[in-house]
Amino acid sequence: VSKQRGRNRFSWFDPSMERELQTRNAIETGIREGIPAGQFVPFYEQQVDLATGRIHGFEMLARWNHPELGLVSPDMFIPIAEEAGMIGDLSLSIMRQAFAEARNWAPELTLSVNISPSQLKDPWLAQKIVKLLVETGFPPNRLEVEITESALFENLGLAQSIVGSLKNQGIRIALDDFGTGYSSLAHLRALPFDRIKIDRSFVSSINENQESAAIVNAITRLGDSLGLPITAEGIEDHVIEERMKDMGALKGQGWRFGKPMGVEQVRALLADQNLLPAARAPEPDEEP
Ligand code: C2E
Ligand code: MG
Ligand code: MG
Ligand code: MG
Repeated sequence: VSKQRGRNRFSWFDPSMERELQTRNAIETGIREGIPAGQFVPFYEQQVDLATGRIHGFEMLARWNHPELGLVSPDMFIPIAEEAGMIGDLSLSIMRQAFAEARNWAPELTLSVNISPSQLKDPWLAQKIVKLLVETGFPPNRLEVEITESALFENLGLAQSIVGSLKNQGIRIALDDFGTGYSSLAHLRALPFDRIKIDRSFVSSINENQESAAIVNAITRLGDSLGLPITAEGIEDHVIEERMKDMGALKGQGWRFGKPMGVEQVRALLADQNLLPAARAPEPDEEP
């Protein structure tokens, strides 16, 4: 055992560590070159109005469309992009694409975007987002920004001022992944949230795990008494959907409704449900 420890202590000689570092550097270079090359694209996950079962909007989720690896999940590149100071550019690049796309959806549909903790350290974040909205013509009152609690810890004052600017523009703010991480009820008062999203780890296990059920129940009651609507993420089947509805969640998302989709799939889905006005059949006097 001691020999093992001794070897680990000199781990900078460990060839596997070096390989790890090389992989990391390769990913970082790949991100730096991939952003201007348009390799980062938005995927979209349906958010459903639980009372009616109708699509309410979509959450934008980043994907890396890598020339060799194919679609790479955000867990692989968001943390590295954050550490390397590239998350701001990456995020703006996919937001621009998503705003331009969502502009063509039916006017009642919303778009949610995720903001990383390090983006809340950029005093110009709100201005950058507003500029994109103006350039793409997507209305601010159809945009919701999702922030996790850990983001608030790092610089509450700056986070408050950014959120204030966003809200002044009519943009809504959601507290994402509630119940995980550094959960604190005080955070609910620190920022003027419009919605709470219950983390999928509680929702998807609600039928197998008593504690999950108790936590979900407590959060929905809390939302109710604070007047904050609840979105449940991670609704994986019909049984969970019914339970979340009973507990008072207004919106839901998860595999029960659909996995994150590429832009072509979203267009097909919306066209099918008559939620894509721009794709309507051409008028008789219009060019085909
Ligand atoms: P999140 O915001 O909590 O997003 C929801 C994640 O849960 C998505 O994973 C989605 O695919 C997954 N999910 C949705 N429904 C279900 C379900 O029913 N069951 C299970 N097991 N999983 C479900 P994804 O796309 O891999 O995103 C992971 C996380 O990456 C997101 O978590 C979000 O925090 C982050 N992320 C994604 N896109 C962006 C982005 O553009 N910017 C930032 N800052 N973070 C992003
Ligand atoms: Mg989210
Ligand atoms: Mg989550
Ligand atoms: Mg979430």
